[in-house]
This record gives sequence, C-alpha cells and structure tokens, in this order.
Amino acid sequence: MSSAIRGLGAGQGETGVDTVPAYAPALGIVHIDGRDRGQLPRVIGGGPGQTAGTPMSSPTAAPTSPATAASHVDVLIVGAGLSGIGAARHLQKGHPGRSFALLEGRAASGGTWDLFRYPGIRSDSDLSTFAYDFKPWTGEKAIADGGDILAYIREAASETGVDQHIRYDHRVTSASFSTADARWTVRVQHAGEELELTCSWLFCASGYYRYDEGFSPTFQGAEDFAGEIIHPQLWPEDFDAEGKEIVVVGSGATAVTLVPALAKQGAHVTMLQRSPSYVLPLPSTDPIGDRFRKWFGDSRGHRLTRQKNIEQQRLLYAFCQKFPGQARKWIRGINKKFLPDHIDVDVHFNPKYDPWDQRLCAVPHGDLFRAFQKRQADIVTDGIERFTEKGILTASGKEIPADVIVTATGLNMLLFGGLELDVDGEPVQIPETLAYKGFMGSGVPNFSFAIGYTNSSWTLKIDLVCKYLNRVLTQMDEGGYAIAVPVNDDAHVETRPLMDFKAGYVLRALDKMPKQGPSAPWHLAMSYREDEKHLRKAKVDDGVLRFVRKGAPLPTSHPAPAISAAPPEDAPAPTDAGTEAVAA
Ligand SMILES: Cc1cc2nc3c(=O)[nH]c(=O)nc-3n(C[C@H](O)[C@H](O)[C@H](O)COP(=O)(O)OP(=O)(O)OC[C@H]3O[C@@H](n4cnc5c(N)ncnc54)[C@H](O)[C@@H]3O)c2cc1C
Repeated sequence: MSSAIRGLGAGQGETGVDTVPAYAPALGIVHIDGRDRGQLPRVIGGGPGQTAGTPMSSPTAAPTSPATAASHVDVLIVGAGLSGIGAARHLQKGHPGRSFALLEGRAASGGTWDLFRYPGIRSDSDLSTFAYDFKPWTGEKAIADGGDILAYIREAASETGVDQHIRYDHRVTSASFSTADARWTVRVQHAGEELELTCSWLFCASGYYRYDEGFSPTFQGAEDFAGEIIHPQLWPEDFDAEGKEIVVVGSGATAVTLVPALAKQGAHVTMLQRSPSYVLPLPSTDPIGDRFRKWFGDSRGHRLTRQKNIEQQRLLYAFCQKFPGQARKWIRGINKKFLPDHIDVDVHFNPKYDPWDQRLCAVPHGDLFRAFQKRQADIVTDGIERFTEKGILTASGKEIPADVIVTATGLNMLLFGGLELDVDGEPVQIPETLAYKGFMGSGVPNFSFAIGYTNSSWTLKIDLVCKYLNRVLTQMDEGGYAIAVPVNDDAHVETRPLMDFKAGYVLRALDKMPKQGPSAPWHLAMSYREDEKHLRKAKVDDGVLRFVRKGAPLPTSHPAPAISAAPPEDAPAPTDAGTEAVAA
C-alpha cells in the first residue's frame, strides 16, 4: 500500500539553527513555570499556509512590487527575510541618499518565519538578541512564537518604508561584476522572464538553506507505510492531530518543538531519535528584561536586556567549551529533575558530543518534559530498520505504531541563494575565497553576505555586519572610490573550514563554502564580543580591504589553498544523515 508522502524531498529540511538554537535568556533561573502568556499585537499578516494552533497573523493582500522599479540601484539586497529587511533599514539610516531594492524570490517577506508553519514553531533565541538593535522587542514572551516573529519583521519593514522597496517573485540567478563599470549586472527570474538589473553593491541576504528542497534520508519501506508522512517544512494546513498516533523522527529543535505541540493538539507522540541531543528547559519569559523595559522604557530597556543576554549566552557557551564535563553534568542534573521515572536520562538525554559542539535545544517552560510527564509523549533512542505498513521497525526490532510519521530530518545548506557569480567574466569559485570578517569574500568586489551566528542569535551578527558595511560605503564616498575588495596576498595561507561546527548539515556543505584563515580578518569569529572588535571598533581601511578608483585595475587576490588545518577528530563524516536524522 502506498503512503501519502507530503513534503518529502520537496520542502526544505529541518533547520540548521533548528539544531543549533541560539541560546537563551535568564539561565540562572531555569524552571518550569507552565505559563503561556500573551501575544504581541499583530500588525501585518502571516501569509498563506496558516497552521491551526500556530498564532500566525492573518495574511495581508499579496504584496505588490514597487510601481517604479528602477533598473539600477546603489545597493541591491537579495532576500527579504530577517537579514534583508534589517540590511535595508541599516542602509537607509546610515546612507539615506543611496538607492536600494530588495529582490525576493518568493511572493512574501519574512523568509524562514513565513515558510515554516509546523505546530508550535518558535524561536530558540531570546528575542532581545534575535530582534534588531533598532527595533525593541516588546512582546511578553522572550522565546517567541513564529507568527509573532513574522509580524515583528514585517512591522519593521512597513514602519520604515523598507517594504516599498521589495520586489516579490524576483529570483536572482547570477551576477557579473565589471571592474571597468564598477557595477554588478544581476540576472533575475520574474514571471517566467529573465530580467537584468545593475547595482553598485550586491548584498546577499538569502539565508543558508534551500527553500525548494529539504534533507530527507531515504527510509526503506516508506512506500509501504499506510499512513501519512509529513516533512515539517511543508506542514499541511488542514492537519488534525487529535487522537492520532504520531512518530516524530529527529532530535533537534524542530522535533522537541513538535512533540509537545502535537501532544497539546490531542495526539500521542513518540519522539524517535538515533542519538540524543542536549535539551534544556528555559523560562519563556524574561522577568529581568521586563523590569528593564518598565524602568527605562522600550528602547533603553531593549538595549540593556540585549547586553544582559549577550553576556549570558557568552558565559554559557564559554562554560560549555571550557568545562565540557561539568556542563554535561549540569545539564544531566536538570534533565533528571524534570524527567518522569520511566524515562532514563542516561539513555535518551546523554549525547555523544560535548555541550555546544553540536546542538543544544531549548524547551521553553519545559513543555517537552511535561508531555513526557503526562504520558502524552514517549521517547525511543534507536536506529530505523525500515518503515512498515503500520509504523516504524527500529534497528533493535521494536515496532512503533504510527498513523502519521513526521520526518524532522534536516535541511540542505545553500549559500548565497545558489547565485553564480563572475568577476570580469571569470567565474567566482566560492570554495577558493576566504571569508573576510565573515561578510565578504576575498577577490569578490562590492559584494557582501549575511551569515549569522550558530551559537547565538543570528541577528546579532547581521546588525554588526550591516553597520560595518555602512562604514565601508562611507570610506568609499570620502575617498572617491568605486570598489572595495578584500585581497588575500598570501598564496600559502593556512586555511580551515568556514565553520568548526560539527552538525551534519554544515559538514555536508563544507566543500561548497568559503574558507577561513588562521586569524583576523580572515577568521570567522562565532563570538559577538570578538566581532565587536573587528566590526565595530577596527579601522575600515585595514590594508586587506582594498579601495579602488573607477578605471583602475582590480588588485590580484590569491585563491584560498586547500584546507590545511586538520578537521576536528570526532567530526562525523560529511555523509552523516543529518543532525536530526535517524537514518537506517
Ligand atoms: C525553524 C527555524 C527556527 C529558527 N530559529 C532561530 C532562532 O531562534 N534563532 C536564530 O538565531 N536563528 C534561528 N533560525 C535561523 C534563521 O533562519 C535565521 O535566524 C534567520 O531567520 C535567517 O534570516 P535570513 O533573512 O538571513 O534568511 P531567511 O529567513 O532564510 O530568508 C532568506 C530570504 O531570501 C530569499 N532568497 C533566497 N535565495 C534567493 C534568490 N536567489 N533570489 C531571491 N530571493 C532569495 C528567500 O526566499 C528568503 O525570503 C531558525 C531557522 C529555522 C528554519
């Protein structure tokens, strides 16, 4: 009998950050309080595909493209997600005279927060750090629902007028830089046609994963399964969980979010994981942050809470990295306290890796543990032998019955929205570039990208990068330069993978990413405090970022040599089935 497979292979996979939640607030007061306080006021709608139980706001009318769409802009931003909209706002503030446009491949803004609609979708980060620095988060929840985050992003776009610059259904496919003209020619798919635009600066804010395809390992026997198989990426609008036996395959942030959310909707859920992740209960509110806002107002309160939480995240990360044994013990102790007796902490919550070497999942007010306590959910740690007509046969021979199988099995990484770049006709080989301050590539002129942190809130990095770009543009204005390009003078520079993070989705894509060098500015800092030094305080004219006048030749930059620093010893093979996968 064939199964109804929805989402498999067609949607994106599970989240990278999904398995890499940026860590959250008020760690000193880990507790389960069971409260679920109010929502943010809704401003702009959530778009189609609203999932029951997910408080997405109602859709706005289909967004329209600006009436007068210029064919040349000073800065062209690819993507109208959190990063693209933030980049546009920073540019608008720093360089009000510069023209800009955002090209968005989809029909709606918000990126990740518009796309993912599974029950319970929420941030892992606290919103004081995940929100922009220019727009205070005023919601009561510190770990917020997806719909509220989407509303916040769209509110940021509409109240600043950035939304007027978004051109929807414009998918950028390639871009060519001409040194003589000091501009990019960008090719775009729109309404079945190819358009060409030009810009002086290209900013790629296209996220980090494929929107058209997720990561799904092949499960033997999937076609025999009589029930429904759903990928969280393409959650069916009309899905009714009530009374169903559901198996969620995975152990990352999406799995730990889905299990209690589906249980709350009346299903009995089994979380089936190949190997455990670290899971920490956290309060979903931030009482100290609330007090800061009350005492100092929204803006100052936001700034103070942000600083407080940046410091907490830094301390937690540093503690885990420096004292992995103690961190492991500490997390185990918390898990043990919140788990019911029938769930063995040393079987199901005892990861093979050290805390923060891979995933560390937050569960707001311990909802996952509460679902276990109420026996609405169960957990099995085992491999998958095959799907059967009635459920899943595990490697150890146990059959788990299922009406529905949810494959929370990972994403496929895609950098720069799949754009093909060339400079004066020479194709840019991305793996031969070195990442400059984590936002430009060696030898690629007037091009920047938005890649946030994997161990902390994405937006913290994006805010820093966008402000730094403003300083680069100011330097160009003041010196009368047309081009800025990071140049690698050392043909034998020691290179390392861009990310030392050992998650499967990162390892699968390492050979397609830029590399990093041994030290600044070629080093990708995964630390806000470190980046503050290099992006906020450091001189823009550092001798590595070269400024060129129009008509002058482009300085030669050596390609990054093959990776010379050894990969981490315990890194899984790049073919690993993914951070959330429980492959056979
Ligand atoms: C379920 C989930 C939960 C997450 N939770 C957190 C969290 O709590 N904290 C955290 O820090 N991070 C989290 N992340 C990571 C999250 O993706 C980022 O934090 C952030 O939303 C990324 O924003 P972005 O704008 O850079 O990318 P995206 O949100 O991916 O937006 C990119 C946009 O670019 C568009 N685009 C891509 N390619 C092209 C192209 N070629 N042409 C035109 N347009 C293009 C896309 O359509 C999309 O709209 C989460 C991710 C997921 C999937």
